[in-house]
Amino acid sequence: MPCCSHSSNGKALAFLITIDTEGDNLWSRPRNIKTRNAEYLPRFQELCEKYTLKPTYLTNWEMATCRCFKEFGRDVVRRNVGEIGMHLHAWNSPPLTPLTGDDFTHMPYLTEYPELTIREKVGTITERLQETFSVKMYSHRSGRWAFDETYARILADTGYVVDCSVTPHISRRMQLGSPNGRGGTDYTSFPESAYFMDSRDISQSGDSGLLEIPVTIIKHGFRGLAGAFRRGLRMLPKGNRLARRFFPDVSWLRPNGHNRRSLLRIVSVAREQCRDYVEFMLHSSEFMPGGSPSFPTAGSIESLYDDLEALFDAVQADFVGLTLKEYYDRFKLNRRSIAGTTAQGLLCGPMALGVEHGLRAGQREIPSTSPAPGKAEIGAT
Ligand SMILES: [Zn+2]
Repeated sequence: MPCCSHSSNGKALAFLITIDTEGDNLWSRPRNIKTRNAEYLPRFQELCEKYTLKPTYLTNWEMATCRCFKEFGRDVVRRNVGEIGMHLHAWNSPPLTPLTGDDFTHMPYLTEYPELTIREKVGTITERLQETFSVKMYSHRSGRWAFDETYARILADTGYVVDCSVTPHISRRMQLGSPNGRGGTDYTSFPESAYFMDSRDISQSGDSGLLEIPVTIIKHGFRGLAGAFRRGLRMLPKGNRLARRFFPDVSWLRPNGHNRRSLLRIVSVAREQCRDYVEFMLHSSEFMPGGSPSFPTAGSIESLYDDLEALFDAVQADFVGLTLKEYYDRFKLNRRSIAGTTAQGLLCGPMALGVEHGLRAGQREIPSTSPAPGKAEIGAT
């Protein structure tokens, strides 16, 4: 049962769907990027509408220029059944300024480019998206989850009010972009819940005007028998791999074809912890057979839809579907209400407890005695 229930429709928990909308199977690092996956999005959109959920399609360059996606996206905007936001892959988003000897292989992080180049790339794709869909861009997610203070400042300067690049508990320091770079962003000490970023330190809450809405990722704390079994497993040959598969350190609200129980558990945890949102993520290419390593066949796509229906069924009663911008509006409204009236019980979530910036990653582990088997994260673009 939810810990509290409010808002005009009686649902306080927000269900946020974020789709990184990009070319086909970029995990294979293609030089000739195709966008056939756009043809598979209407089925997903239809399912969301059946459950009155509103996806935010965070759209990168190849999709912003794809005829099929343009038609789809304009219809979503016209009917107000979702949001178009921005997603930026530095290596193929104009203006093209080579950074490494082979950018399509290395896929450098945007944060590795000079500030002027970052500003030009953000400005160019933003203009293209706004012209194409005739709406202002408010929401953003970075390519390969790379983010820093400079990038955040440029987004705010360009008119963005939401970012969702933070993945609590996850560090990508060991994953190189440029071979001469320092690897990806380390989010292990970042908050799990929404907060306005401090422009001098994006891991802290502040007054930058850019609302960070981290992806929902929960950390497990294996105790008792499960903890002992996991420790024993890790001592065996290849045991680390098995431990990651069957006793993962973290679980994402992100289907991978093997984690229905885990997805449903995250929703239960969100209720128990009185969170005010959960944020689901997937890539547009993952709705197409063979569009990703996780869903290689038509059968695996059918299984994905079975999992999605189970998840959406589970949230139907007490979650409300919002786009990222709609959640931002609600967050600001709730903050004003707190400031103006200190109304007790108006909110569900950290702010109701007087914690404006939310708990930090690592401050709450989820005791788990019987975790759902989950594949290790396959990475993301
Ligand atoms: Zn991407």
